Amino acid sequence: MTPSPSALRSPVLFVSHGSPMFALDPGTTGPALSSWVQSRAPAQQLRGIVIMSPHWMTPGIRVMSKPQPETWHDFGGFPEALYALQYPAPGDPALAQRVLGLLRAAQLPCSEDPERPFDHGAWVPLRQMYPAADVPVVQLALPALVPNAQIYAMGQALSCLRDEGILIIGSGSMTHNLRELRRQEGPTETYVTAFCEWIEATLNRSDLDALLDYRARAPGAERAHPTDEHFLPIYFALGAAQWGQNSEVLPQYISHEVMYGTLSMDAFSLD
Ligand code: ZN
Repeated sequence: MTPSPSALRSPVLFVSHGSPMFALDPGTTGPALSSWVQSRAPAQQLRGIVIMSPHWMTPGIRVMSKPQPETWHDFGGFPEALYALQYPAPGDPALAQRVLGLLRAAQLPCSEDPERPFDHGAWVPLRQMYPAADVPVVQLALPALVPNAQIYAMGQALSCLRDEGILIIGSGSMTHNLRELRRQEGPTETYVTAFCEWIEATLNRSDLDALLDYRARAPGAERAHPTDEHFLPIYFALGAAQWGQNSEVLPQYISHEVMYGTLSMDAFSLD
């Protein structure tokens, strides 16, 4: 890809992708994301999307390089209508090579995956945002068992893509305790509120050290994330935004919705 001098600097996004049912039940988050897209990152302003999903965890860093990735329904036990959904966005092998080169230049060893399809951590939120599937997408794996700071460094390494019309997205979940999910909507669990408020306050004071150490410092962290893979893509987004390096880079919340009483759908952008 050659940088276009006229390209606008793209914002960065963290999105909670929720349950796969988010595809059929957009709640208030789906419309909020699509209006954010219209005002801040319309398809015609983008050359591509780079998205990290925790549903692709690999030893080491992997980058999807397939020209036309399939839509993978990587879940079981949901209504048939969900399995009929497709997200036929093209991949972008050239963008994938650019991503690989930037990661290597930052001393982050990585390799390409020419077969990987889109998992629901990528296609479900993208379908809410870009239903026409007309922006090329490169998915990036979450490397397993690495320090949180390395995931942040991955975002930093790709930050320059924002000047080339690339939207960088970390897709995860602000809280993710599936054992506590309720079938019916109900009052939000207090630990969910406490955890989300601590994260927002920490983001608003640009405290990178505290955020990297969230598991020891955030109230309810172990309960909000019995395993932490759905939290970690936040570091990728924050690194891409250079949040924590410049106190003027602050989150702008797009959604504060909570589904099923426990599943925070928090989404925010950074400029
Ligand atoms: Zn998920």
